[in-house]
Amino acid sequence: MTGEPADFCPDCGTATERRESEGRERRYCPACEAFVWHNPVPVATVVVLDGDRALFVQRAASPDRGEWDIPGGFLEADELPAVGAVRELTEETGVRASPDALRLCGVGHETREGRNILPVVYAVERAATSGSPVAGSDADAVRFARPADLDPVRDVAQERYLLAAEG
Ligand SMILES: [Zn+2]
Repeated sequence: MTGEPADFCPDCGTATERRESEGRERRYCPACEAFVWHNPVPVATVVVLDGDRALFVQRAASPDRGEWDIPGGFLEADELPAVGAVRELTEETGVRASPDALRLCGVGHETREGRNILPVVYAVERAATSGSPVAGSDADAVRFARPADLDPVRDVAQERYLLAAEG
């Protein structure tokens, strides 16, 4: 899961070749006789809304350590996005929600540390959740706040907040 196309085939280790397909230069494994696809990685996030405030976590780990962010993370291979979103929410904040209570706000694209990320942004009302916010894994602190009241806030966290608040 890197930002660059694969120089070696992940299946057999053979050096890949550059080959054009569908108007794009792609990597091709001559041993497997197959393209090595280079796709974005989904991240599921959930904005817990309480009036004009949302639940933010202060990141305890790199990248962006110390910055305020919306809860979320990478999906397990067999996990539905809404299920992954509430799992990450509970792991990071202690707040629980049913996947069925989430509202899909949008899907975007961003590049982070060279990785191509496909964020899936959900929202849920605070009243539809349970549990008090407690900083969990990957979080130094958690709190309900307006983005303007937090510093520093990740740009993409502000975008996700607006997507949820305006939806
Ligand atoms: Zn191969």
